[in-house]
Amino acid sequence: MKITDAKVFVGGPAKNYVTLKIMTDQGVYGLGDATLNNRETLPAAYLQDYLIPNLIGMDPRNSEDIWQFFYRGAYFRRGPISMAAFGAIDMALWDIKGKLAGMPLYQLFGGKSRDGAMVYAHATGADLEDLMDSIAHYVEQGYKAVRVQCGIPGMPSASYAVPETKGEGKHYISDFSGIRPKVEVWDTDRYMRYMPGALAEIRSRFGPDLKILHDVHHRLLPREAAEFAKAVEPVGLYWLEDPTPAEDQDALRLLRQHSTVPVAIGEVFNSIYDCNKLIEAELIDFIRVAVTYAGGITHVKRIVDLAGLHHVRTGFHGAPSHSPLCMAAQAHLNAWAPNFGIQEYLVLGTPECDALFPSEHQMENGMVYVSDAPGLGVDFDEKEAARYSYAPGSHPVVRLQDGTLWNY
Ligand SMILES: [Mg+2]
Repeated sequence: MKITDAKVFVGGPAKNYVTLKIMTDQGVYGLGDATLNNRETLPAAYLQDYLIPNLIGMDPRNSEDIWQFFYRGAYFRRGPISMAAFGAIDMALWDIKGKLAGMPLYQLFGGKSRDGAMVYAHATGADLEDLMDSIAHYVEQGYKAVRVQCGIPGMPSASYAVPETKGEGKHYISDFSGIRPKVEVWDTDRYMRYMPGALAEIRSRFGPDLKILHDVHHRLLPREAAEFAKAVEPVGLYWLEDPTPAEDQDALRLLRQHSTVPVAIGEVFNSIYDCNKLIEAELIDFIRVAVTYAGGITHVKRIVDLAGLHHVRTGFHGAPSHSPLCMAAQAHLNAWAPNFGIQEYLVLGTPECDALFPSEHQMENGMVYVSDAPGLGVDFDEKEAARYSYAPGSHPVVRLQDGTLWNY
């Protein structure tokens, strides 16, 4: 069996999805997601210029050897661009493998460990009352877990993932008006003073059963993060996400010494070497890698297995930057993983997205039920894809009030 061709598509409804389609001499094709948010053209070029010319003629069933060939063969290893490109190839090869076997991918991993996988939604508010309305909206829809973010009184501009005006909602962080980012201004002191009380009010409004998550988005220094974690401990958070910048795996030691709040980190990690110390030292409770950025199913499954040895559960990244192909790969891992925790869930559901990526994965009452179709269980409509093209976008950048550049 041989790979005969592969194509890359960039574009989508309000997103620049990077979609890889690998064709074979037996008519079976595989699909993968290489979307690297706001840098989408780079994994696309890496695939087109270097990886696809090497893929042609390879046996698609040898997904492990192909992964090693690209990873070791590049000499310069890791990095988000490479790992997103390898991730798309790996997803597509697993898709082919599942189709050849006539089985959904979770069966190839070891079968189902649960009926459905709990997901969490993003509730946001310009202020706390606006956030309460947003949380109530998701609770009414049956969500059991909600990530909560709101504006901070006196903060010079809207804080992370928060709308500037009430009732607006803000699920898409990227701004597609151009390549130059907007600037947000951050004030750590105001955040530290306000947010613990706001989280306590949310807990008292919604009661003990709602799983409440909060994302600090890398804004605190290790000492500040430890103080914040201690302050929010009575709230009983499901997790505190990205309390410190993710590069420093030792930064969480201080927090861990001072608080038992569950910690989730890893959405920007792209390999097992970004998180092996964190996992082995049991400094985190949830690992947040994504199948796209972290080198595909083959590599993420290794991370999940390492995490399982150390009581670390999964909480895969599920921002809208991941296409339904990545979310499907994660749905299969979530169905199987003995150490599954929760899944961030933002991508599916718009009619345009469903038309571009037809699938039978189901979402109901805050749970995802994985499709039994062979492979990933998601297709890609090339006619729909022709409606879209690449639009340059950017995340905001963050500065302190004196102009110092800070962590987004
Ligand atoms: Mg996050």
